[in-house]
Amino acid sequence: MQFKDRVVLVTGSTRGIGKAVAKAFAGEGATVIIMGRNPDQAAQTAAEITQKGGLADGYACDVTDLNQVQETVNKLLDKHKCIDILVNNAGITRDNLLFRIDDNDWDEVLKVNLKGTFNVTKVVARAMVKAKKGKIINMASVIGITGNVGQANYAASKAGIIGFSKSAAKELAFRGITVNVVAPGYIRTDMTDKLAQTVQQKVLEQIPLQRFGQVSDVAGVCLFLASKAADYITGQTIVVDGGLVI
Ligand code: NDP
Repeated sequence: MQFKDRVVLVTGSTRGIGKAVAKAFAGEGATVIIMGRNPDQAAQTAAEITQKGGLADGYACDVTDLNQVQETVNKLLDKHKCIDILVNNAGITRDNLLFRIDDNDWDEVLKVNLKGTFNVTKVVARAMVKAKKGKIINMASVIGITGNVGQANYAASKAGIIGFSKSAAKELAFRGITVNVVAPGYIRTDMTDKLAQTVQQKVLEQIPLQRFGQVSDVAGVCLFLASKAADYITGQTIVVDGGLVI
């Protein structure tokens, strides 16, 4: 129970990687804050955790809206007093070739993935600075490192998260707050299940460990980065991709 008495906010935790991360923290005794845009899904995911004996609370919040983020964080700070660990995980894709990405698909991906990470970090880091402690983990992607055909908007947003996190790590270190990035490769979730079978097969052939990642592979790294064992690690990007990018 290494995270007993800790409050962990995981954005985009109503499904996929975020949900697995929230469950993993709950399994280690943390109180987890589930966040997504859909209030029913947020409440339902929190209920799933509490029914299994964990501590969880669900909040509906769109990370692209700074006012909503501020109001939601105020509410949850009133109730839970602090946020010890923040995992900025909410993210979307709107894949298309460069010439076919329209303004809306460009803006939406940058707004959710990059501005959303900025918004939540800005608001939560204030409370962490006051508390003189905190761990921030931002979810990027190997695509932010390598780029990918059909994902210029997504790659830009994830590369942006890596640069943003390095700056935040330098700015927040004076209060002992660490900021790190997890860059997953291909992890089985709704997001990757949308890919055509032929694309999935092609990707699989390039993964030295010969399997897609599981959400638990990413959750484990988040637990490590939030743990005491990682107290002296900040500004780093940990790639979780089965060796896809070596
Ligand atoms: P999913 O699509 O399964 O889940 C995305 C989550 O983000 C949902 O809970 C969704 O809830 C939430 N979300 C989306 N938009 C917003 C918003 N504006 N405000 C608040 N919450 C939002 O994605 P994955 O689990 O696959 O991915 C999670 C993260 O991991 C993303 O950042 C993704 O880029 C990254 N990643 C995933 C990889 C993979 O292979 N799956 C690989 C590399 C990185 P709701 O729709 O209800 O708001």
